[in-house]
Amino acid sequence: MYADIIVDISQEQLDKTFQYRIPPELENEVQIGVMVQIPFGRGNRLLTGYVIGIGSTPKIPAEKIKDIDSVSQSGIQAVGRMIQLAAWLKKQYGSTMNQALKTVLPVKEKVRQKEKKTVRLAVSKEKAAEYLALYEKKNAVARVRLLKALCKTDENGLDTAVLKEQYQITTQTIQALEKQNVITVETQELYRNPVRETAPGQERLILNEAQQKAVTQFCTQFDAGERKPWLLYGVTGSGKTLCYIEMIQHVTAQGKQAIVLIPEIALTFQTVQRFYRRFGSQVSVLHSRMSKGERYDQFLRAMRGEISIMIGPRSALFTPFTNLGLIIMDEEHEGAYKSEQAPRYHARETAVHIAKMCGAGVVFGSATPSVEAFYRAKKNEYTLLELPRRASGTLPAVYTVDLREELKCGNRSVFSRRLQELIQRRLAAKEQIILFLNKRGYAGFVSCRMCGHVLKCPHCDISLTEHKNGKMVCHYCGYEQPRVTRCPVCGSKYISGFRAGTQQIEEAVKKMYPQARVLRMDMDTTAGKEGHEKILAAFSAQEADILVGTQMIVKGHDFPNVTLVGVLAADMSLYAGDYRAAERTFELLTQAAGRAGRGRQAGEVVIQTYTPQHYSIAAAAAQNYEQFYEEEIAFRSIMDYPPVCNMLMVTLSSKNEEQLLAACTFLKEVIPEWKKEQVRITGPVAAGVYKRNDYYNQVVYLKATAYEKLTACKDRLETLCRENTLFRSIGLQFDFN
Ligand code: ADP
Ligand code: ZN
Ligand code: ZN
Repeated sequence: MYADIIVDISQEQLDKTFQYRIPPELENEVQIGVMVQIPFGRGNRLLTGYVIGIGSTPKIPAEKIKDIDSVSQSGIQAVGRMIQLAAWLKKQYGSTMNQALKTVLPVKEKVRQKEKKTVRLAVSKEKAAEYLALYEKKNAVARVRLLKALCKTDENGLDTAVLKEQYQITTQTIQALEKQNVITVETQELYRNPVRETAPGQERLILNEAQQKAVTQFCTQFDAGERKPWLLYGVTGSGKTLCYIEMIQHVTAQGKQAIVLIPEIALTFQTVQRFYRRFGSQVSVLHSRMSKGERYDQFLRAMRGEISIMIGPRSALFTPFTNLGLIIMDEEHEGAYKSEQAPRYHARETAVHIAKMCGAGVVFGSATPSVEAFYRAKKNEYTLLELPRRASGTLPAVYTVDLREELKCGNRSVFSRRLQELIQRRLAAKEQIILFLNKRGYAGFVSCRMCGHVLKCPHCDISLTEHKNGKMVCHYCGYEQPRVTRCPVCGSKYISGFRAGTQQIEEAVKKMYPQARVLRMDMDTTAGKEGHEKILAAFSAQEADILVGTQMIVKGHDFPNVTLVGVLAADMSLYAGDYRAAERTFELLTQAAGRAGRGRQAGEVVIQTYTPQHYSIAAAAAQNYEQFYEEEIAFRSIMDYPPVCNMLMVTLSSKNEEQLLAACTFLKEVIPEWKKEQVRITGPVAAGVYKRNDYYNQVVYLKATAYEKLTACKDRLETLCRENTLFRSIGLQFDFN
């Protein structure tokens, strides 16, 4: 047997592996993730490396392969565990080992560590005075300045930066006196702490009854060694964060560490501050705007045990703690928890896997759990903890407005009469308003303004997407039909695509309410480095009356003065052309409603829609998650969508269209073989975006009850791609569920 070994964990070197023979006496010990000693180069210098793969085929003539010298450590350490995790990601989600390693390893980058250098006297003040006299005599003015400055300060010494700036002392002068043992220079690594420190220990909130019950149940089960994941299902504003904090307190008190995943947007704002206030410098934060060097610093601190709580987006999962006890995943339903590049892992499943490797617990939290998570809780694979009420205040009143009725009454404005009236009232009362456009996932559906009918695929029950060539296409099965000019249900000619942007809304608001101060938040206005924070902070400081924006504005923020939320066209995200559209819409509407009335005054929500009868809109209006869940899971069962079934989307792409089509024709011949093994297959068909960046794309959809059936198909496709010449120019991408 042979092992693939990496010797240098730095960004550029990850794909450089060396093959070594595993001597028989080490066969039991050598496994993926183990640290080994290997003879390297001509001189056979012993180097330390990590095993990242094991196989039986030599890649160079077998006689040239050297033996592994020894196994360095018994057991797997933090980095080794990350390598094992990479191997799992590769197998589970499809990628190269190098892509997987880059995802999980705290990669060193050649950045200079920022340092703090402190200069102190190495001699007594009397002795220093003697030196001073000596230098004065010699007219060594720089040395005189340096000694005088040091004599005036206490034993804390002076920073080199201060000496340079205020006293014009050069490095040479410092080095010269250091050589003569007159002074000492102490170097300290400066970690770049990404969040402004806030003083810990503000007043502590006392858990309410529901919170206490959830936390106690968690602690009792955790201490009893129970490691089934927990799902903390608590309505918006029910105080989930306080529960997380208490759970972390419990686990870190046992000398263990915790990882807290939160969506990127919440990272920069209020949530992180709450953790800082409670845990102070035990906390570190990762976010996507940090440089690789900064991220590496934070991983290093974690590995050295200098911090015990890491907060960050999904990549914080890979923090190499040595004794991980708990992973918390807030807003578990968030789409951002799935990676968009290979390996396309989902943080939910990956968290469960990491926790299993480390013996840690996992807590998922949400007001609108993903259908997957709630399904598992129902099947008793997760333990359900509930917070049914807001911690303070009540849930807002929600009104649904039927936009078809507005049209019949001659109101062609983007604001219904109800919403106009409520906006007016809020402006008069000096309360704040959020106007929300749920454009997320919007994919060009066509609907009837008179009856609300939406064109859908007859096979997949998914809305059709309008293409430039005028055809209506299903992205799952390739079904297409010509664009219609009259509604097939009511015959109206008001059937068309749905278009509205935040900018138009902003203009409409300004025109209708010239006295109102308006802020807009979307991709365009938040492009700058601190775009988000600036807008949110301004709105929070009540520098505006109305905030117009996309989904960014409805996630997790706490604006106590907001008493009205208007959802302008709930349908936009409902017909996104994929099986999660209804779920996403319910989530967005509920989260949006959750922004209203979090302070002292009660809140109101207006949901404008052409299809008020749709179950996801009706359930959101009723603020009833379980009502939504029951309808949704029925739909998923009938149509065989996840979580009832597993689904794999494979994208085949090539710059050469002919070769792509030839490969697909070949695939169509072999696929019937795979179908025998309880795998259902659609395609290959042209992808939603057939040509992108010069690449032509075809997709295949596979469904199977058992996940392993799909990973087996993935392995077969990878083998085809490696070994069959027809596939030479073809790239593969895998996307599970
Ligand atoms: P969620 O994350 O569930 O939406 P938060 O954790 O943001 O809710 O809490 C909502 C609000 O309720 C916050 O302002 C928080 O300070 C307050 N809160 C939470 N728990 C308590 C409590 N036990 N007593 C008083 N106020 C609380
Ligand atoms: Zn119609
Ligand atoms: Zn279809």
